Amino acid sequence: MMSITPPPCPECSTVTERIQVEGEEVWRCTAPDCTRRTYGTGDENDDQDLPSYSETDADGAVVCFHGTGEVDFEATAELAVQDDPADENPDDDADPLPAPAAAAWEPQAREIRVQDLAHVLAGGWVRIYGDPPEGWRHFTEAAYDPDHDTTVAITYSDGEVVREWPWPQALLIHADPDTIPTTTRPGPARLVQR
Ligand SMILES: [Zn+2]
Repeated sequence: MMSITPPPCPECSTVTERIQVEGEEVWRCTAPDCTRRTYGTGDENDDQDLPSYSETDADGAVVCFHGTGEVDFEATAELAVQDDPADENPDDDADPLPAPAAAAWEPQAREIRVQDLAHVLAGGWVRIYGDPPEGWRHFTEAAYDPDHDTTVAITYSDGEVVREWPWPQALLIHADPDTIPTTTRPGPARLVQR
């Protein structure tokens, strides 16, 4: 027979109210800060069989409880991890640019004629064929007007202006002056710190 007199809360002795949990009649403490639930049999061991449940708190977070009304911290933490949107699709967080490709990329040395330096607006590294392998110099600009000039005026980063014949071949690398190329042929610039 179900008792109709609300039993006191086993935790704080406050009067309880009857609720239904998964079809079962149980008693819930009415004290504001107490979540204790009980079968009201007076036997603490019976209450261990109360069905666990969860509630959504004011912040929208789901809190899991043992059947007795105590917070189930383990289950709550587990649920929080599952609900974390950042962990929902770990594969989606992958860098869109494959890392190996990015690491392998480096400026390329390409063959040009000295006169072509006049078209390189941002400057770069140049090594004119016939120069020694360590003959790389960084230039800021080159001026050449084929109708009037017989030579190309190359302004190097150290301020020196050198006039060169327009037709010899050269290697050009688009790279900043803080790294220096070590290659002697077209292909990867093999930049090293100065
Ligand atoms: Zn209570």
